[in-house]
Amino acid sequence: MFIDIVSVFPEYFRSLDLGLFGKAIERGLVEVRTHNLRDWTHDVHHSVDDTPVGGGAGMVMKPEVWAECLDDLLDLAPRGMTGGTSGSKNTKNAGDASAPAIPRAEDPEHGVDPDPKDTDSPILIFPNPSAPLFTQHDATELSQAKRLVFGCGRYEGYDARIPTYYASQGIDVHEYSIGDYVLNGGEVAVSVMLEAITRLVPGFMGNPESIVEESYTGGDALLEYHQYTKPAVWRGLAVPDVLISGDHGKVDRFRRDEALARTSELRPDLVERLDCCTLSKQDRRT
Ligand code: SAM
Repeated sequence: MFIDIVSVFPEYFRSLDLGLFGKAIERGLVEVRTHNLRDWTHDVHHSVDDTPVGGGAGMVMKPEVWAECLDDLLDLAPRGMTGGTSGSKNTKNAGDASAPAIPRAEDPEHGVDPDPKDTDSPILIFPNPSAPLFTQHDATELSQAKRLVFGCGRYEGYDARIPTYYASQGIDVHEYSIGDYVLNGGEVAVSVMLEAITRLVPGFMGNPESIVEESYTGGDALLEYHQYTKPAVWRGLAVPDVLISGDHGKVDRFRRDEALARTSELRPDLVERLDCCTLSKQDRRT
């Protein structure tokens, strides 16, 4: 999977070299290129923002700068032109000449892949607190993609015409919120989405079994049951007897009941979404 991240603080993503993500980069499973949006500015101050049209506090990210950057990364010709572009410039961590070529969206007339749902086509993602919530289902879908391009907003956000324009050019564009709160910038939100997506890429996890039975996963997408490790009694607190009984059938039933009970209590919305066939007779007794 090829990942481009555009930000005014590309250094933020240095931590991607750590842990499982770092190992996935080393093994060539994912390749990340971070880009400083300011590298696509032309003025002496490298400004990426301007005052809001209609008035109001704060600053809004300018569409022209984003467009120069994204046209380069997506290999799109600016509107009114046809054919290729000058190619990517000033990419940080762009890798060396031996790095695998990044798949480009190409169409002879518009420079756009005609089928945006094709998994080879780049998917453009903007974090936005006023967008639909990013879920495990989205992470699963996006983990199939070959190329993701993330744009991190700052200030009051980015000009609303940016995602509209790229969608009109045939690019698969997604805007997501990671929760009902407002962060200073998109970097944290992109890190959250990136981790949720890439851990589902086949080969990313050392033990693929560990992502099979997890919260929000599978047909019923329940919250997970409680987990315990040894010792069986710790500071006077014992693990449930059934878990050390050695009876796998009873352990499975106990965990299933706990998952159902926890989900009903903490996230009734997830239980309401289940259709009648998803729950067994035994489940219904919980
Ligand atoms: N004025 C915007 C609003 O009220 O909806 C908030 C802008 S926020 C200060 C700046 C940037 O941070 C956003 O453009 C977005 O990229 C990112 N951001 C902040 N909170 C977010 C969230 N909950 N989910 C995803 N992105 C978020």
